[in-house]
Amino acid sequence: MSIEQLYRTRAKELLSSGEVKMVIGYGAGSNKERRRPLFITSAEECDKLVLDSACISNLSGYLLTEGLLSDEKRVAVFLRPEGVRALNVLAAEAQLDTAQIVIIGFDSPKGELKALEGSSVEEFTALITALKEITPETAGEEQLAKIEKMSPEERFLFWQEEFSKCIKCYACRQACPMCYCRRCIVDSNQPQWVNTSSHTLGNFEWNIVRAFHLSGRCVECGNCDRACPVNIPLRLINRKMAEEVLNSFNHFAGTSKTQEPVLASFKKDDSETFIL
Ligand code: SF4
Ligand code: SF4
Repeated sequence: MSIEQLYRTRAKELLSSGEVKMVIGYGAGSNKERRRPLFITSAEECDKLVLDSACISNLSGYLLTEGLLSDEKRVAVFLRPEGVRALNVLAAEAQLDTAQIVIIGFDSPKGELKALEGSSVEEFTALITALKEITPETAGEEQLAKIEKMSPEERFLFWQEEFSKCIKCYACRQACPMCYCRRCIVDSNQPQWVNTSSHTLGNFEWNIVRAFHLSGRCVECGNCDRACPVNIPLRLINRKMAEEVLNSFNHFAGTSKTQEPVLASFKKDDSETFIL
């Protein structure tokens, strides 16, 4: 039996037994490379579920849909390892109760689909810890290495050019499971903290503010990068920040549901190299 069939059967069982009220998975998209989220509430619909190597988006953010988990019923969700990490971050930030989530785990390293054993966040934690050294395929290591070799002036110009393309559509924010605030600071205009116009300064402010906001929280799922209509390589900023956070604070986002947010906590022996 294929993994897709196996997981359709699993979804049917979960729904018909009443163990979950909904399964969030993937359905056919506009072409073979695209998959769209599917929200299934009856066993009869489960044959619409698709699972293949094109299922790359992180579906964890849909769990925060207003009211979805407020009745304390359970929801099953198809997740890759980055999605499980996202659940841990969201639980650590008190956005959801992982006891309400049933994980249908899978991965597709190098395009090869494989099932992941387990169903609870706890069962996946050891797996994620084992993945700590693994760089997600979305990370763009080669491009990052090229940028690392640039002088600060060249790097500034590189990002200036990339950010000049930004049209402030906020698709990156909408696609990110970690951007769950009902009202984002960039939408506030009294006072207006971040310039809303799409020009060099405003674009820098937006993208840098966002990169800091995601530091130690980003799980490198690539949702933002794929959502950007002008192809700004957002994964490179996120990857770089993740590396810095790991090297400076030994913090890898999403390895536990009680992990403290790295930029909202401190240890007495944290290095203070920025204080002269
Ligand atoms: S910033 Fe991008 S890569 Fe990081 S968690 Fe959000 S969507 Fe995923
Ligand atoms: S998705 Fe791209 S263009 Fe839209 S706001 Fe984000 S960085 Fe800018």
